[in-house]
Amino acid sequence: MGRLLTTIEHAVKKPVWGCSMCGQCVLHSTGLTCPMNCPKKLRNGPCGGVREDGGCEVDPDMTCVWLKAQGRSERMPRTWREEFDDLRPPVDSRLQGTSSWVNLLTGRDKHVPAGWQPDEEE
Ligand code: SF4
Repeated sequence: MGRLLTTIEHAVKKPVWGCSMCGQCVLHSTGLTCPMNCPKKLRNGPCGGVREDGGCEVDPDMTCVWLKAQGRSERMPRTWREEFDDLRPPVDSRLQGTSSWVNLLTGRDKHVPAGWQPDEEE
């Protein structure tokens, strides 16, 4: 069943979002922009190297994924728009190639590295 869902998820998400099956989908909090398309695989916003024209430091032919994500997130429903500012945990590379749908259902995508803490409410 897991393998079937993985195949279906990839078939649906690859053409639309360039999904590389990281196993921890955050599309809803990034304006439906896949952060894994960032050459540096950043999950929490742009690096310091965004070019003046909005181009990526690594690949000047592409617009910074995070500039696109911010613009798109502003057009999302309020709940998702507010999640844009959440601190997302680092990618767990052990989940690469697995279905984020399955990981969501099992809660596996919520496991974070020991010692990692999201921002505390002040
Ligand atoms: S965040 Fe991960 S699962 Fe979601 S579209 Fe991007 S690579 Fe695929």
